[in-house]
Amino acid sequence: MDDLLEPLMQGDRRALSRAITLIESTRADHRERAISLLSRLPDRQALRIGLSGTPGVGKSTFIEAFGTMLTAKGMKVAVLAVDPSSARSGGSILGDKTRMEHLSRNPDAFIRPSPSSAELGGVARRTREAVRLCEAAGYDVVLIETVGVGQSETLVADMSDVFVLLLAPAGGDELQGVKRGIMEMADLILVNKADGDLLSAARRTVSDYSGALRLLRKRPQDPKGFPKALPVSAATGEGLDNAWDQMTALAEWRRAESHFDANRAAQARHWFLAELRAGVLAQLDAPDAKAQVQDLGDAVAAGRMTPGAAAARMLDHLAAKRK
Ligand code: GDP
Repeated sequence: MDDLLEPLMQGDRRALSRAITLIESTRADHRERAISLLSRLPDRQALRIGLSGTPGVGKSTFIEAFGTMLTAKGMKVAVLAVDPSSARSGGSILGDKTRMEHLSRNPDAFIRPSPSSAELGGVARRTREAVRLCEAAGYDVVLIETVGVGQSETLVADMSDVFVLLLAPAGGDELQGVKRGIMEMADLILVNKADGDLLSAARRTVSDYSGALRLLRKRPQDPKGFPKALPVSAATGEGLDNAWDQMTALAEWRRAESHFDANRAAQARHWFLAELRAGVLAQLDAPDAKAQVQDLGDAVAAGRMTPGAAAARMLDHLAAKRK
């Protein structure tokens, strides 16, 4: 048995940190140990909440206030991040502890920045495993944050039970250019900064989005009234309680209607395929395979082989290597 497992299950934060570092490692022996650890985890469930929003809408302010509220209700809260910029630059802007100063010092909260990796898919896969570790460590809610750019929302929605889109009040009557595909993933649209001078703009934005959401195709995993748009203020705390009530009501309905576990099962199947594809592609990146691909590519370019025959030869080569 892994010596991280026991303290992890006791909720020891250092053990949780170390376990996450282990799953983020790409070293073969670390990977092996990570896979074995992950397969021994107890079947504890947290509510997994995905949270997406462009920079400046108030994600860190929201997580600070919302997370603090949940801990005050007696829950343990973990915050993870999927940050596409860390995939590019190796430096993470999300999950930075100075952004959530109070929450990071709260003994019932655990904040972990995005893993840095060469590609977003890898970041997302490791974050998904970190979610499992947080659940095993006894966290009741896992918030998975991402900036609303590129593919990251889809990846986060694919590891969440409830997916929340955080928006700022729109200036005019435009719908902030939120892509239809992102709207279709959202269970809840929270229009933040519904306070002070921005209150009326926030209310207008909520009503615009409520209208837009009503036009979307009804999903079987939605009770009446969902997806919905609501105003919140991370700064004053107004609306946060209601947002939580909506999230739990949605999760409870989905549990009662068997959508909750079915969704997790579909997600698990999806991530298995993603792991498998990544593993197959990684085989092509091994040095001798790369050389072989180069040679076969030369043969194809020179007209000595057809692309199909070359691909078949390469797949045979990979299969033979495993024997
Ligand atoms: P992030 O980039 O999405 O993490 O956004 P931040 O949490 O850093 O917030 C961006 C800016 O919006 C900061 O200046 C915050 O003080 C401000 N802000 C965040 N939430 C609210 C809110 O509820 N009301 C108002 N008025 N400002 C807010």
